[in-house]
Amino acid sequence: MTAVKMDGKELAAKVREGVAREVAELGHVGLATVLVGDDEASHVYIAAKHKAATEAGIDARDVRLPADTSEGDVLALIDRLNNDSEVDGILVQLPLPSHMSETKVTYAVSPAKDVDGFHPLNAGNLYLGTPIHVPATPSGCMELLHAYGIDPSGKEAVVIGRSEIVGRPMAMLLMHANATVTVCHSRTADLAVHVRRADIVVAAVGRPGIVTADMIKPGAACLDVGLTRTEEGIRGDIDASVERVAGFLTPMPGGTGPMTIAMLLQSTLKAARYRRSLLAFPGS
Ligand code: NAP
Repeated sequence: MTAVKMDGKELAAKVREGVAREVAELGHVGLATVLVGDDEASHVYIAAKHKAATEAGIDARDVRLPADTSEGDVLALIDRLNNDSEVDGILVQLPLPSHMSETKVTYAVSPAKDVDGFHPLNAGNLYLGTPIHVPATPSGCMELLHAYGIDPSGKEAVVIGRSEIVGRPMAMLLMHANATVTVCHSRTADLAVHVRRADIVVAAVGRPGIVTADMIKPGAACLDVGLTRTEEGIRGDIDASVERVAGFLTPMPGGTGPMTIAMLLQSTLKAARYRRSLLAFPGS
């Protein structure tokens, strides 16, 4: 048995085409990204997000600040972007330099413009099952499941990782889709025991090959989020041997990564609709 490849690149292209059409209908959609400092990977991610946004017709503003920028200056910038009528969505690339509080900066972004879904109001609404903006990576995983006809309802899902940007929101989305969800993390006593019962596995750890073929229930859908740059190239959390056992598997690269960018664009479009009152912002 060879797993069906869950082609994130192909699906992302479709999502991006849809976004481009809707951006053209709306006229102007603006996204501001804020990058503070010299983190190498962040520069790569921001460049990819800008390219995709521009290709979709989104007016992408690239704000870059030196690593020694004060927290006060970053907060003042966010305040200006919150009040800028040309800006629908704001994305602050993490990690921020260690001298500033990521919590403070994340909380400062207006929830309606928080296209990453990191603000507590957005995290809280996801928890409540009334999502506004949802973190892009788990959102992309749900799109992949849907596109390949995998309905989480009644299934056993195991999410490995419990970060605020991937694992936790992923578990919430799967639970709201009626899966029975187990969340594993660094203190999980026996990872394999849990993964073995999973119909859906989402690995978001950042440890190459932590999920091996012997842990996988035959036919399971396996989504690889973990991404580690090694001397041999980019490696995921899911070992290549899983392909022989799984029913569905995302490639690495070309799986969850392209979907993350596509969902960010979709979130920006949603923010534009909130700002134009084409969508009612919950609680407003
Ligand atoms: P993170 O904040 O470092 O979280 C990693 C999680 O893995 C933590 O919850 C940690 O547990 C858990 N963990 C660590 N060792 C483990 C082990 N031996 N067994 C089980 N769980 C273990 O990372 P993140 O931001 O969620 O990102 C996770 C990975 O996804 C990274 O490789 C990142 O580069 C990648 N990523 C990819 C995309 C994409 O688009 N494909 C997007 C975002 C992130 P504790 O909570 O106990 O520490």
